[in-house]
Amino acid sequence: MKVLKFGGTSVGSPERMKKLLDIVNPAERQIVVLSAMSGTTNSLVEISNALLKEDKKKGIELITSLKNNYDTVVAELLPAGDFRAQGQEVVDYHFSFLLSLANNVFTTIEDKVVLAQGELLSTTLYHVYLKSIGVPSVLLPALDFMRIDEDNEPVVDFITQNLTPILTANPANKLFITQGFICRNSFGEIDNLRRGGSDYTASLIGAAISADEVQIWTDIDGMHNNDPRIVKGTKPIANLSFDEAAELAYFGAKILHPQSVFPARKYKIPVRLLNTMEPKAFGTLISTESEKGKIKSIAAKEGITAIKIQSSRMLLAYGFLRKVFEVFERYKTPIDMITTSEVAVSLTVDFTDNLDKIVTELNAFGSVELDRDQTIICVVGDFGAEKHGYASKVLDAIKHLPVRMISYGGSAYNISLLVNTDDKVEALRSLHNRIFE
Ligand code: ADP
Ligand code: ASP
Ligand code: MG
Repeated sequence: MKVLKFGGTSVGSPERMKKLLDIVNPAERQIVVLSAMSGTTNSLVEISNALLKEDKKKGIELITSLKNNYDTVVAELLPAGDFRAQGQEVVDYHFSFLLSLANNVFTTIEDKVVLAQGELLSTTLYHVYLKSIGVPSVLLPALDFMRIDEDNEPVVDFITQNLTPILTANPANKLFITQGFICRNSFGEIDNLRRGGSDYTASLIGAAISADEVQIWTDIDGMHNNDPRIVKGTKPIANLSFDEAAELAYFGAKILHPQSVFPARKYKIPVRLLNTMEPKAFGTLISTESEKGKIKSIAAKEGITAIKIQSSRMLLAYGFLRKVFEVFERYKTPIDMITTSEVAVSLTVDFTDNLDKIVTELNAFGSVELDRDQTIICVVGDFGAEKHGYASKVLDAIKHLPVRMISYGGSAYNISLLVNTDDKVEALRSLHNRIFE
């Protein structure tokens, strides 16, 4: 069984929704994961922010304006008859629900409920559309099987246990449709897998049902060798290993949600990145295979803070790093990059909610310095220990820029550099010219 995920642009208009049947073969048993229509989640975030700030008037204005868009979607997607009425009922239901939330106490719990409406709308409307043209499908409620635990980690076993029985109970059905992004948390409340999370849903479902393949259909022909929004002349990469793709996604390649490769890698489910606007293009195949001895791609992750801990006690000491790491562990703050010298250690984080408390505790070990507004530039490829010349090529490309940290050899796939965010664009372009042009 395959899992096909369509992103926001791929379901961004009634016309695009209708075109999905050029790609989805209703005669093949598969699970189709849909994102919200493009722009919807951003609008829902705005609505939620207004209501969190108790600006009810703005919240209601935004809800009304979004509803107007959906009224038009229904009119175009389901032009007549009973199905038109069904589609309108779906829209009316979700928007009166949003209005009822706006008129009551609004907390971070309701915030998540608001954000979930986009995927609930897109999947239900698409399901009604398929019915209207006589294509049978089953709508699978993601909230019944997608679950994260108390550490916000998805629970693959839970997904398997709750999704498999529904699939087996519908042996004759071929086409299953479900929502990306949304899930329930350990309290049973509605939650989500963070922005861009529909990719993660697809990969998790792929892992949970041991799918033959996961296809991520988007608006570009695969993973490019640099960020196409910043660098001109980028090209798609035909093959990436799971490790290479995981590094790129984690370090900022927006085409994939940061964690979305992990389940596919663990369960060895091939992932294809494909273009809805150009379905015949090869795209990118992420699997255990990839071309050896090559630099594949460059990505950047902004919003990084570097922390330097300087201590003479580190000299010849053992156990120092353990104590430092324990502080980050206590505050559930992942570390991305790390470099050490005899008397200091520098590391980077992007989650800074607990930074004050972390710094207070680190002060017990030595002097602590922070550098905010940093960006990790990640160069990904196959850099086995026997290979040479890659690091010098990378450093040569950015010799005109100040570099705060360099990490090489942590894995055979990644060279990471920490630069000021102001230098991000220049770093990406210079590296591209030196490596790929
Ligand atoms: P979707 O809504 O389908 O999930 P996204 O907007 O999340 O689509 O991801 C696709 C976008 O990712 C592309 O349009 C492109 O601008 C951006 N992107 C950033 N880095 C890369 C990269 N290295 N390769 C391909 N696309 C990238
Ligand atoms: N709709 C969600 C978002 O915009 C999830 C996704 O599109 O992957 O972030
Ligand atoms: Mg996305």
